[in-house]
This record gives sequence, structure tokens and C-alpha cells, in this order.
Amino acid sequence: LRILGIETSCDETAASIVLRHDDGRGEIAADVVLSQLDEHSAYGGVVPEIAARAHVEALDTLIDEALARTSTSLGDIDAVAATAGPGLIGGLIVGLMTGKAIARALSKPLYAINHLEGHALTARLTDGLSFPYLMLLVSGGHTQLVLVRAVGRYERWGTTIDDALGEAFDKTAKLLGLPYPGGPAVERAAAAGDPKRFDFPRPLVGERRLDFSFSGLKTAVRQAAETIAPVTEQDISDICASFQRAISRTLDDRIGRGLARFSAEFPALGHPPALVVAGGVAANLELRRTLQTLCDRHGFRFVAPPLRLCTDNAAMIAWAGLERMAAGFAADPLDVQPRSRWPLDSSAEVRIGHGKRGA
Ligand code: ATP
Ligand code: MG
Ligand code: FE
Repeated sequence: LRILGIETSCDETAASIVLRHDDGRGEIAADVVLSQLDEHSAYGGVVPEIAARAHVEALDTLIDEALARTSTSLGDIDAVAATAGPGLIGGLIVGLMTGKAIARALSKPLYAINHLEGHALTARLTDGLSFPYLMLLVSGGHTQLVLVRAVGRYERWGTTIDDALGEAFDKTAKLLGLPYPGGPAVERAAAAGDPKRFDFPRPLVGERRLDFSFSGLKTAVRQAAETIAPVTEQDISDICASFQRAISRTLDDRIGRGLARFSAEFPALGHPPALVVAGGVAANLELRRTLQTLCDRHGFRFVAPPLRLCTDNAAMIAWAGLERMAAGFAADPLDVQPRSRWPLDSSAEVRIGHGKRGA
């Protein structure tokens, strides 16, 4: 099976061709991503209107490019998968409409994919992971700990009650006058800093619920910066290092509890339990070290897919489509609508709502 994947939910325009072999293995035949970073960086964040226009301009070319790289034409495609939500509605409309048009023209099935399902299933494509496993999604828009039971069966165990982790990095960077996106800049500055100079808050640490909160951290950073004048480069490095340390400590507690809960729920898995990380913040080396150490301590396998598959891409959307086909889910009808909000654990409901009218 050969599927075309389309991703346009945020600030990456992406197209991909993914194959599923008879033994169930996936193979990425082409994976093209165009980041709109340059177009948004002047504004210090993603501007929805600019994003939507950029998707319109780039998508057709990216699809052609993906096909060219695999030396195939549209006619060789068996199905189309496009992100239908959650995300910025303008971009979602562009990608989903394009997917519908191609599916219609080829008379092939269309799969309207939840972006978060794409992130959740990536580790099965890259590492052949078996269900169930835990996934930590840490990006600019999401911070969630999710139990991945099976295709279409997700339980959100924890989520942020305010800022996403990537957002906390971005806002902290902005406060300190560092460039956008903030994550890489904060990590770079932290490398030369003293992580123990500031004792930043670790919200929700010690609580039984598995949620996250990062907005207080940003406030603490602002206050720390305000008490120092003038702020030197060393101060900034110390603040960034202390900020990352607070995050590590927080994740150590929150995710540690999640791993313990997983082990209690699945005492006899028959294979080592696994924690998968996804999202742009997965690029952060300190975060990776923290999660690796935590997994070692709890007897978990720590799975970090290659970074280009952790950030937004279309290969994960294509793969989610293949997984749904293989699991026997019906395709979506061509009047399926994009949804800017679409919690992952409601996917099953949505599917029932749309019945089996699909191709
Ligand atoms: P979505 O949440 O919809 O997937 P997004 O575009 O916001 O969309 P990603 O592209 O996955 O998310 O990730 C971008 C985020 O990752 C930004 O907030 C950025 O600051 C953060 N990030 C990138 N590199 C690092 C790093 N080295 N350390 C910490 N954070 C990082
Ligand atoms: Mg992005
Ligand atoms: Fe994403």
C-alpha cells in the first residue's frame, strides 16, 4: 500500500509518500517539509493568516516534489491522508481540501487524520513499537502524556493546565531578549549557565494527577530578570540553565508517576514497556537526558524518533492513515470537516459519528 500524506496544521507545510509492506513494516519513500519559520519569526510567533497563505502557495509543489522523489505519479497512490485537526483552521482547510480533491479525482479513500494521532503512532513506524506504550508530546502547542492502547484508542493521562512546554521556552526567550523560536536559544544560553543559581518553581510536583503547569515558571523568570540590573550575558545563561533544571525536575516527578502508573496497569506486558517522546521540544538534550535516566530507573525503553519525525511532518500523517486502514477503520466521507479543536481521546467518537459512508 502506498499512501500520500498531507500536513498543514501549523507552520510546516509537508507532503509525504509512505509505503506499508505485507509484513506490516512501514517505509518512508519521500518526506518533504517546508518550514515557514522565516515568515513568522519577525512577529515572534505563528501568524495564522500568513500561515494559511503560505500553505496554499507551497502545498502543490511539495506534493509534486514528494511524487518526483519516489518516481511515481498520483495515479499510483492507494489512499490519501490529510490532517483534519487540531490546529489553525486556515491551514487545515488548505490541506484537507487538497486531500479531498486528490482522493475524489483518483476515486481513492481519504483519511482525515488527527495530528496528535500522527505523533502518537510515529514510533511504530520508526521503531516497530508494540501496543500499549506511553507517549509524551511536548511541542509549541501541546504538552500531553498519552496512553496509546491501540490504533484509535488513546487515553490522555496528563495535559498542561496553562502553557505548553515549547510555549514556556518561547516566552522565556522573549522575556530575555533571545530570538524566536525560543527553545534552541534557551538551550544554547543554558549551556554556559549555573543551573543552581535560581530556584524556580516546580508546579504540581508531588500531586497525584498527572497534569503539567508552566506559566508560573515564566513569571518567575521575569521576576528574576527584573531583580538584576543590568542583566549580563552570564545572568541570562544562569536563568536559562535554572529554567531548564526546573523543567527537568518537574518532568522527573510528573513522568515518573506516569511510568509507575503504566507499570501498575500493565504488570505482564511480555515486552519491555516504553516511553516515546514527540514534539519539537524533544530536540532539547537536557530533556532527553532526564527522560533517559527516568526510563532507566523504571525499567522502560526510551524511544526518541529522529528529530525530523518528532516535529511536524507528513510522514506521520501518512503512517496514521496506513495504520487506520490496516486496523480496518472506514475511510472518511468527502464532506468531513476540519476541526481546530479535536482532543485525541475523542477520535473514536468522531469516527462513529461519521459512520461507514466512506469509500
Ligand atoms: P504543534 O504543537 O501544533 O505540533 P509547533 O509547531 O508549535 O506545533 P513543533 O514544531 O513540534 O511545535 O515544536 C516547536 C517548539 O519546540 C517551539 O516551541 C520551540 O521553541 C521548541 N523547541 C525547539 N527546539 C528546542 C530545544 N532545543 N529546546 C527546547 N525547546 C525547543
Ligand atoms: Mg512547528
Ligand atoms: Fe505537532
